[in-house]
Amino acid sequence: MKYVSTRQGKDGVTASQAIIRGIAPDGGLYVPETIPAVDMDFIRRLAAMSYRQRAVEVLGLYLEEFSREELEAIAEASYGDNFDHPAVAPLHVPDGDTAYLELWHGPTSAFKDMALQIMPRLLTASLRKNGEQRTVSILVATSGDTGKAALEGFRDVPGTRIMVFYPRDGVSQVQKLQMATQEGNNVNVVAVEGNFDDAQTGVKRIFGDRDFEKVLDGRGYFLSSANSINWGRLVPQIAYYFSAYCDMVNAGALKMGEKLDFCVPTGNFGNILAGWYAKRMGLPVGRFLCASNDNNVLTDFIATGVYDKNRPFRLTSSPSMDILVSSNLERLLYCLSGDADRVRDMMEKLSGQGRYDAGEDLRQAVQAEFTGGFCRDADAKAEIGRVWREQGYLMDTHTAVASRVLRDLREKEGAARPTVVVSTASPFKFGGAVLEALGAVTGETGPALVDELAAFTGLPAPKPLAGLGKKMVRFDKWVRKEDMERAVSEFLA
Ligand SMILES: *Cc1c(COP(=O)(O)O)cnc(C)c1O
Repeated sequence: MKYVSTRQGKDGVTASQAIIRGIAPDGGLYVPETIPAVDMDFIRRLAAMSYRQRAVEVLGLYLEEFSREELEAIAEASYGDNFDHPAVAPLHVPDGDTAYLELWHGPTSAFKDMALQIMPRLLTASLRKNGEQRTVSILVATSGDTGKAALEGFRDVPGTRIMVFYPRDGVSQVQKLQMATQEGNNVNVVAVEGNFDDAQTGVKRIFGDRDFEKVLDGRGYFLSSANSINWGRLVPQIAYYFSAYCDMVNAGALKMGEKLDFCVPTGNFGNILAGWYAKRMGLPVGRFLCASNDNNVLTDFIATGVYDKNRPFRLTSSPSMDILVSSNLERLLYCLSGDADRVRDMMEKLSGQGRYDAGEDLRQAVQAEFTGGFCRDADAKAEIGRVWREQGYLMDTHTAVASRVLRDLREKEGAARPTVVVSTASPFKFGGAVLEALGAVTGETGPALVDELAAFTGLPAPKPLAGLGKKMVRFDKWVRKEDMERAVSEFLA
């Protein structure tokens, strides 16, 4: 199976090459030339398997250069004790129609772990397959969650080093502490004076510096990114849609073969797109509900076919969905249109004017499979309180957006179809906002909020978050943005 760029549609590369490159040379994203098909027997077989085995089956269909033994070893190392639940991605089924797929039992308590625990191993195996001898050095600029998840994913993975830059005044106290206490012998974390854009611009400049590239090459290093547009981050996410379907059937909430809807809290469109791939492979899915917060650019896009990022950027209590450019949408546009020239044209308009019109045919194609919806920050918080009071189930601020959007839609339609709400973070990760949603008055800030939420709800906090206040700070340096490259050079001396 070859992977082609969404802006070229030809000259395919192998899966391992797509994972090494991340982004295609023409600026496009890699997609599989054809989507592998499965039948109901495949899904029936998965239903009897563990999460790890399900992941191996799904990954194997996309990563042909990887042997079964290789994928089994990778899945074993990626989805083991590092998750605090034996099911890895358990399904919570409170009633017949609604279930929550919990993707936050990994080491950083957010769904990015589902991909970032495995992607570093796919990357190093890909490098070996392509004869790369040098050490890959991952550079990340983060506004919070991705940096920590990447650090945990790459920590002590042989043949890799990772350096994360975060804006000194732009992440929460818990996020800062999570990164500053990072363990591992191949990691480095540095704050940058300025905001997220400063950090990101600095990292991009380093990636573009050809002289620096030569210097690093001489020392046996080369730079790469762990960006969410990398196919190696998307493909592991397909597995949990199959897994959730099987668990719905196993729980007696769905008949094998019956259609299931998914409601996904969306930012960069990566998570929900993985679900769409599962559907195209043959998973019986009715529709995808694309749930947004106040930054509802996708809701408008699905309704009108016009993508327009010229609008105010709103800070919400679901920060991982505060996004105006949903990069992975490009993959959907290519797969639905099959027309790379058209995709290139739309993406050029997006970077030039911040806006494009996908056209009537594409709008209809998107609407056939996706329904958009958004909710205000205050309504998402109210949803956390309601579900806690009525069902004793605690959600984080991102999951609450999806839960609320689903409920609003059901009220509008006057009917409920079996739906899985994709739950993307532990409520303890956003303790302050969750406590506020529950009506608890707190004078605490930072890691103390974790204990406070545990005391208020009687629920146990995930271990890595509970112990955060007591961990040793290993990284407390900050640099000016002009000095980022020097910091990298010192790290890779
Ligand atoms: C990244 C993230 C999202 C958004 O996922 P996308 O793949 O970017 O759509 C939602 N919730 C949480 C908690 C996240 O970390």
